[in-house]
Amino acid sequence: MITFLRAITLKIIYPLLMLLGGIYKPLKERLQIALVEINNWLVKAEGIKTKRILILIPHCLQISDCNIRVTNNIFNCKRCGRCGVSSLIDLSERFGLRLFIATGGSMARKIVKEFQPEAVVAVACERDLSSGIVDSFPMPVLGIYNQRPEGPCFNTIVDIQKVIEAVEFFGRR
Ligand code: SF4
Repeated sequence: MITFLRAITLKIIYPLLMLLGGIYKPLKERLQIALVEINNWLVKAEGIKTKRILILIPHCLQISDCNIRVTNNIFNCKRCGRCGVSSLIDLSERFGLRLFIATGGSMARKIVKEFQPEAVVAVACERDLSSGIVDSFPMPVLGIYNQRPEGPCFNTIVDIQKVIEAVEFFGRR
């Protein structure tokens, strides 16, 4: 029943609201935020438990003056701690999870197709989260916003505790 509600929300209501949001951008952003919140609530209400969790993070979490190439292999990171990438690697090792940087929607879809997780914890802005959640249905995705103190797509930050809570929700401890 809840999966059905999720389908209606993501595949019917959301596209209609986006047509409305196309007229006025601030409204569109608020609708995207609302979509992520409602989706997270529905996913939690479904109570899905699995160990096969994939964590997807955006490239903008890597600090801009780090020259290490982490997009193809996040484990190239030297874990200097200057950006959130090192903490997320620590977390993935602690919980035994797969962790990837997705540089866009098509890359995210490719990673999901390859790894075939049973649940995804995704970090991104409201625009990428909402479109990724809709595209990934029926995959349960818990979305976490990144913080953007220096503006969009640049030196963004994520609250690691929120990622831990999402992973633990799916049953990893
Ligand atoms: S933790 Fe350090 S080495 Fe790793 S991506 Fe961030 S700045 Fe680069």
